[in-house]
Amino acid sequence: MQAVDTLTPCPCGNKAGYVRCCGPLHEGSAAYNAEALMRSRYSAYVLKREDYLLATWHPSTRPANLKLAAQNPSPTWLGLDVKRHHQEGEQATVEFIARLRYGGGKAQRMHEISRFVREQGRWYYVDGQFPEA
Ligand SMILES: [Zn+2]
Repeated sequence: MQAVDTLTPCPCGNKAGYVRCCGPLHEGSAAYNAEALMRSRYSAYVLKREDYLLATWHPSTRPANLKLAAQNPSPTWLGLDVKRHHQEGEQATVEFIARLRYGGGKAQRMHEISRFVREQGRWYYVDGQFPEA
């Protein structure tokens, strides 16, 4: 376990630090918008918080598990760049580029447009499109 309460900047890149950014969401606070949820999910991938990733995944598309601990080689997450956040009522999309590397491999870009829905005041990840797949 990493000492996550001292992470500055936050794994999502926010200079305010983990305890002021994604930390409270990982502890159960509702994300105030889909971008905040998306950032907290990126941080959850960095911290291998599979429980959080599944809890914020909409039940209609949620996988049974992610097996993050069993990934080999496991990804090293290098950074997050949120390009666009668009909300219409209870639905939102967030376009982002995440950079990662597997083992000693080359850095890769993951460009995704994620869809989110809000139900009972909580945002959930639904699915994503990959414009440069
Ligand atoms: Zn964060």
